[in-house]
Amino acid sequence: METAAIINEQDATTVKETGTPVKKKTVNYPDKKKLYRLPYSLNDNPIGWIEATDICNIKCKGCYRLIMGEGHKPAEQIKEEILFLRKWRNCDNISLAGGEPILHPQIKEIVSFITSLGMKSVILTNGLALNDEKLKEMKEAGLLGFSFHIDVTQIRPEFKKEKIKSELELNDLRLKYAKMLKKYGFYSHFGITVTADNLHEVPELIRWAKDNIMLINGISLIIYRGLPVMPGINYYARGEKVDVNVDTLGYTIDREEYEKIHVRAQDVYAVIKEHFPDYEAMGYLGGTADHTSFKWLWGSLFVNTKGKTFGAIGNKTLELAQTVYHFFHGTYLVYPKKRIGKSIFLMSLLDPIVRKAFKKFLKYCIVNPVRFFYPMRSLGIGMVQAPDLLPDGRIDMCDDCPDMCVFEGRLVNSCRLDECRIFGDLLQIQVEDGVELKKKAAEKETEPAY
Ligand code: SF4
Repeated sequence: METAAIINEQDATTVKETGTPVKKKTVNYPDKKKLYRLPYSLNDNPIGWIEATDICNIKCKGCYRLIMGEGHKPAEQIKEEILFLRKWRNCDNISLAGGEPILHPQIKEIVSFITSLGMKSVILTNGLALNDEKLKEMKEAGLLGFSFHIDVTQIRPEFKKEKIKSELELNDLRLKYAKMLKKYGFYSHFGITVTADNLHEVPELIRWAKDNIMLINGISLIIYRGLPVMPGINYYARGEKVDVNVDTLGYTIDREEYEKIHVRAQDVYAVIKEHFPDYEAMGYLGGTADHTSFKWLWGSLFVNTKGKTFGAIGNKTLELAQTVYHFFHGTYLVYPKKRIGKSIFLMSLLDPIVRKAFKKFLKYCIVNPVRFFYPMRSLGIGMVQAPDLLPDGRIDMCDDCPDMCVFEGRLVNSCRLDECRIFGDLLQIQVEDGVELKKKAAEKETEPAY
C-alpha cells in the first residue's frame, strides 16, 4: 500500500447552471479504512486526566473550565483520583490540567507521586507561570514534559492584554518556552484552538515547528466546538429542564458563532496536506454517534535540521508500536519518552508509508552523502475535534475518550466536566422540530465513498 492509497482524492466535476463544466480543486481527506483505529477503551486507555485546579491566570476562548471558586483541589484528593485512574484506566500517562496546574502549590508533590507509581506525567499549561525554578522542580519530580496552549484566542499579559492578531505573532513566545524546555530535556508540545478564522494559519504553525524540529516534539490542533444556545434547543439534567446560557457554562456558543464552527478534522488534514504533501495521518478515534467523524487524528512528518521533509509514520508502525508496548508494559503508549529519528527507517521492512519516506531520504542522500548525518526527527501532528451536537440531539463524542477525569467516583469526559460540576450530570439535549442544525460543511460531499 503506497501513501497515495491512503488518501481519498476527490476530484469532483460539476456542471454549472449555464452548462459549463467546472473542475473543482482536488481535496485530500483521510480514509478510515487505511488508518489504524487506536485500540483504546474505557478501562484500557493510556491517558488519565486530572483537573488540578479551576484557577487560571489568563482567559481563552472555548475554555472547558469555569472558575467557580473551587480553587486548587487538595493534593490528597488528587492522589486518590490518580490511583482511581491507574486502577480503572490502566494509564501510561497522567495529564495534569485545569485551570493552570502550574499554579497549584503542591504541583511538585503531585508529579512526584505520579512518578513513584511508574507513570509518566505531562502538564497542560499556558506557560505564563513557568520559570527556570519551576522547570527545575518539575524535572526533579520526574515530569515528562509540557503541552502548551498558546494561540490567538487568548488574552495574554505578554501582549498587554491587546488582541493578538495572528498566530505568527506568537511564535517568538512559543520559541522562548521551547528553548526553556530544551535546557532540561522536557518533551515539548504546542497546541492551538482551530477555528474558521485561524485555519489558514495552521500551515504556518507547522512551518514554525518544522524550522525548530530539534526543540519541538509535536503540535496539537484542537478544533473549536461549543454547545449552541439558541431558541429550540433545550437542555436537561437528571430529567429536569435546566437553564444553559453563555454565563452558566463556559463552552456555550450562540447561533451566529455556531454557524462559524464548521471546521472539521478532515478539513484541517486537507489544509496540512495541501502545504505539506509528505505529512500523513496514521491513527484515529471516531465518534460515538457519527460514523464519518474523526475525533482524534494522529499524524506525523519526518523533518531534518535543514527543513527537508521525507514522509511520515504509517498505520502499520503505529499498530505495531501500540501492540508491542502493551505486551511489554501492560498499557498502551502515549508520549514516547525517546524521540523518533532515523532508526524509524528500519520499519521500511513492514510499513509501506515509512518505506516511501526512506526511498525519498536515500535519493536525497545519494546526491550528497553528508546529508545522511543531518539530524532528523518525527514531528507529531494531532487533531482533536471536540463534541458535536447532532441534529437529533445526540452529542458525538470521541469514541473511547482518552481525556476522561474523575467526578464523584465515576469517569466523565473532561471537556464536559463543568456540566457535572454545575448541573450534577452530563446534559441531555432536545432539539425541537424545525430547528436547523446542519452545518455548512456537513452538507458538502466530502467523505470517502465506502
Ligand atoms: S470527548 Fe474526551 S477526548 Fe474528546 S474532546 Fe472531550 S475530553 Fe477530549
